[in-house]
Amino acid sequence: MIRPRECPICRKPVLPATEGAADHFPFCSERCRQVDLLRWSKGKYAIVEPLSPDQLPENDETQDADDE
Ligand SMILES: [Zn+2]
Repeated sequence: MIRPRECPICRKPVLPATEGAADHFPFCSERCRQVDLLRWSKGKYAIVEPLSPDQLPENDETQDADDE
């Protein structure tokens, strides 16, 4: 069963069956694939910006109090 999925970069629907799409699947295009690669490589070497508090999951700060 084939169902369209969204390009993680630009949110355009991506059809896996599209001819030639296998090269950059699951992205809609080679360009979006490169954008994603850049994001990952940047994330590896540099933290661009810290998460803002409202992006953090609700963690119990005492959860690893007895971890060590
Ligand atoms: Zn795209």
